[in-house]
Amino acid sequence: ADDRPITAQRRPEDIDAALRPQTLDEFVGQAASRENLRIFIEAARGRGEALDHVLLHGPPGLGKTTLAQIVAREMGVGFRATSGPVIAKAGDLAALLTNLEPHDVLFIDEIHRLSPAVEEILYPAMEDRALDLMIGEGPSARSVRIDLPPFTLIGATTRAGLVTTPLRDRFGIPLRLIFYTVPELESVVRRASQLLAMDLTDDGAHEIASRARGTPRISGRLLRRVRDFAAVAGHATVTAKIADAALNRLEVDNLGLDSMDRRYLMMIADIYRGGPVGIETLAAGLSEARDTVEDVIEPYLIQSGLVARTARGRMLNASAWKHLGLTPPATQVQ
Ligand code: ADP
Repeated sequence: ADDRPITAQRRPEDIDAALRPQTLDEFVGQAASRENLRIFIEAARGRGEALDHVLLHGPPGLGKTTLAQIVAREMGVGFRATSGPVIAKAGDLAALLTNLEPHDVLFIDEIHRLSPAVEEILYPAMEDRALDLMIGEGPSARSVRIDLPPFTLIGATTRAGLVTTPLRDRFGIPLRLIFYTVPELESVVRRASQLLAMDLTDDGAHEIASRARGTPRISGRLLRRVRDFAAVAGHATVTAKIADAALNRLEVDNLGLDSMDRRYLMMIADIYRGGPVGIETLAAGLSEARDTVEDVIEPYLIQSGLVARTARGRMLNASAWKHLGLTPPATQVQ
């Protein structure tokens, strides 16, 4: 399992709901997605229609669920949430769909994990707002069509590549969320510190933001840990120095990498001389699920240029060797 101290993955005990922005205006970053959504919402509202179906994709913790909730609020409609693996049978999805009020948002997290049978139900529901159900068995079986209220499906996935083409094609509004810049995370952190009634200096916010791996969920978690650390040490105000000491203690380094990231990099460096090494081999070596490695660990390492994903496998870039304080073997072509 994923046992990183500061993970971007959702946890059952998640309490960061309190920090969720409530409106598009409060939502920091993702300017392109945000402004597109703003226009589509205004247009749909103007026509008195449900918003077209939206597919959100990007690494965990970047705000997919938050955006889905904001869409419902800005549309002034109800919000129902579920997730791909939870919907076991076609009937479960049918029950959800037939219980929607007109224009409601149905949010399906991890939509790439829907079973094929459930996905089949979704196609006519999305396209024609209808359910095709089979009644009875054998020669007397017949199909009945049930009309559904107009609704908006918002699907979220960490892996757009795993969403089947017929499903992906039925989303009118596909949006890709990207890692946040440090200044964007600074405003996320400053806002959160106010909500937590915490005294945080600008350089303290900068320190946390620059070590949050481009991810608001991680910035919120780091902020809480730093707050605990400061409280126990008796500091009323959190400065960069205090944040730095707390983050070092959490083994979050100056690039924001944690022990898991470094284990990943060290494995490629040490055992595979910088790569290339295949994903399955790496996942097995780290005792992690391949999905976790690909969805949670690698995106930020690749985005920050430390690791390259090549046809032959993963390779360390020069900056990774430098970060680890190691010299690449002479035979490796950089
Ligand atoms: P995802 O669904 O992509 O895994 P969430 O929507 O659950 O991510 O976001 C994780 C947390 O990060 C939220 O609880 C919220 O506090 C914070 N967050 C996400 N996006 C933003 C943002 N743009 N501005 C401020 N906080 C954000």
